[in-house]
Amino acid sequence: MDVIKDLYQQLIIDHNQHPQNFRILENASHSAEGHNPLCGDEMKVSLLEKDGIIKEITFIGSGCAISKASASIMTSTLKGMKVEDAKSLFINFHTLATTGESSRDMGKLAVLAGVHKYPARVKCATLAWHTFNGALNNTTEIIKTE
Ligand code: ZN
Repeated sequence: MDVIKDLYQQLIIDHNQHPQNFRILENASHSAEGHNPLCGDEMKVSLLEKDGIIKEITFIGSGCAISKASASIMTSTLKGMKVEDAKSLFINFHTLATTGESSRDMGKLAVLAGVHKYPARVKCATLAWHTFNGALNNTTEIIKTE
């Protein structure tokens, strides 16, 4: 199946099997929960922001390989980044996931570019990012991809 070839690249498999930052963050300054009802992915993203920098960022939850790998790659990318830069990267990632294209070097995030060909999978790949954005905005309601 093409979906396997396109999406289940080794980096995605590795991040799904050994997710980075997959734990509860006790001293979080921001957190939010996100659900993707279409696939059944559920996660909570927590972060510790200090002086405009994301000092720590973690996630917990359950979901498909794409959602978990995306959250793992997202947290490892955003850790140590300025909040402002993270917000603009969210916009870039959203464009990458929905069109497969990007105006900047997306590093490891680029492995998820293939999801744009599978609209249902776009929601899996962007759930972590929408939830992260909700956390930054101190959203108390559950973030939904629908
Ligand atoms: Zn999913």
